[in-house]
Amino acid sequence: MAVSTQVRVCRVGACSALIPLTLTGQGVCLTHYLDEVFTRISAVQERCRQREMPDSRTLSWLSRQGDLAVTLLSSVGLNFSEDRARLLELLLCLANLHESMRRPQSP
Ligand SMILES: [Zn+2]
Repeated sequence: MAVSTQVRVCRVGACSALIPLTLTGQGVCLTHYLDEVFTRISAVQERCRQREMPDSRTLSWLSRQGDLAVTLLSSVGLNFSEDRARLLELLLCLANLHESMRRPQSP
């Protein structure tokens, strides 16, 4: 059995970027982590718009992503300003989502 976890490289096909320690559990680099999270969040947002509230598993997943984003923000180097901007966008996105869940009757 190959011990692929020792090579901390992104599992996305053509990508061979190193995985930050914080994302070892996710198995992807920061860029692909953010791609995946934004995709899933927009799916949750879409369901919220249709008055369908996320289940408890989704809610705990969302709060884990918030924690991860905060941890990543404090560990990402200053030269990765694009990554920092996307992490901040992620936190904003999560905040907006929580806001829309509090007021499901808004348009
Ligand atoms: Zn990647």
